[in-house]
Amino acid sequence: MALIVKKFGGSSVANAERVFNVANRIIDDYKKGNDVIVVVSAQGDTTDDLIDKAKEINEKGGSKREMDMLLSAGEQISIALLAMAIEKLGYPVISLLGWQAGFETDSHHTFARIKKVNTERLKNEIEKKKIVIVAGFQGLNRYDDITTLGRGGSDTSAVAIAAAMKADLCQIYTDVDGVYSADPRKVKTAQKMDEISYDEMLELATLGAQVLNNRSVEMAKKYNVELEVLSSLEVKPGTIVKEKVKMEKTLIRGVAKDNNVACISVVGLEDTPGIAFKLFNKLSQYKVNIDIILQSVGRDGTKDITFTVSRDQSADAVAALEAMKDILTYKNIKVDESVCKVSIVGAGMESNPGVASKMFEALYDAGINIQMISTSEIKISVLIDAKYADSAVSAVHDKFI
Ligand code: ADP
Ligand code: ASP
Ligand code: MG
Repeated sequence: MALIVKKFGGSSVANAERVFNVANRIIDDYKKGNDVIVVVSAQGDTTDDLIDKAKEINEKGGSKREMDMLLSAGEQISIALLAMAIEKLGYPVISLLGWQAGFETDSHHTFARIKKVNTERLKNEIEKKKIVIVAGFQGLNRYDDITTLGRGGSDTSAVAIAAAMKADLCQIYTDVDGVYSADPRKVKTAQKMDEISYDEMLELATLGAQVLNNRSVEMAKKYNVELEVLSSLEVKPGTIVKEKVKMEKTLIRGVAKDNNVACISVVGLEDTPGIAFKLFNKLSQYKVNIDIILQSVGRDGTKDITFTVSRDQSADAVAALEAMKDILTYKNIKVDESVCKVSIVGAGMESNPGVASKMFEALYDAGINIQMISTSEIKISVLIDAKYADSAVSAVHDKFI
């Protein structure tokens, strides 16, 4: 007998037939004598549809607090429907919203961090031998306001429960049967991995492989929760995410792309000490996360600083820069949202020279210009024109895998 946490994504519960499919998968484990806690996301495209509804009211979207109030409704629908399906099949079940399941978060609306999961209620329900269905992606801050955890946040809800409840297994069910070397829907030659390390998975997830949310991987690593990513439609083993994996012969493990990127250039800055500090200090005060940074060589007493941010933060970045007009002089700001980031990830590249040049050669052969480059021990990213995103991923993937 084990305690199993299972998370089902939006497509896995998209309609009544799929809800019953998921209900049966849950019951299979319960019937074997296991305790089962299930985390679910909103059905199908519900979250996107709710965002569109907000835009019908206010083009810029509502305040972040009200967005959380709205978006959390998606998960409320799926937990109730899934619980009803399990009831109909004759098994004891209870659905819980994030706050009922003990999720305490900070107050960063629409991107809140989990502070703690109070497990009392979960434990009570499990003791009563109930299957517990928890709404993913949501929690409560210290003012009793509902928060959400950022897109894809249900994965993190599942890992948080697995960590807090010391579960034996945390299974993330989705619409593909595991983690691949590239998005299997885009790259036909992508290969499924039996296992992948937390570090490599964290990089892939952060760099755009949406199959797992990056915060969920970060948390799994921190609390040593072994994850399995698997299909909700087919019964077969998936991909295990854990600390140590067999060394692979391949140099790189995967290719990811991220379209949620904006490139911002501050042109004609004074070429004196302290400018970069003042600029990035202000951006951090506006809570803008910076990714790649490029500074041009100074010429005639001026220089340009270019950096990338996620597209949804580009307005905040511009606001920060405009608020600095009196302390920093610059000619103008340019915002380019038609860019995308393509990255390769692999622990093997640390000890093998020539990986970067091989990646650049693949892009050169495909006629794709590189605008910016950034590297770390286990990844290399390039910024390119968004219209080449898919062809770049395929070209790079085929060069290595
Ligand atoms: P869910 O609704 O179950 O959370 P997501 O849409 O968030 O599902 O994530 C699953 C999707 O991630 C897949 O349908 C696939 O297209 C995409 N994906 C991107 N990169 C990868 C990868 N490297 N391996 C597997 N799937 C990937
Ligand atoms: N429903 C949320 C989203 O679409 C959370 C999730 O799917 O994990 O982002
Ligand atoms: Mg997801």
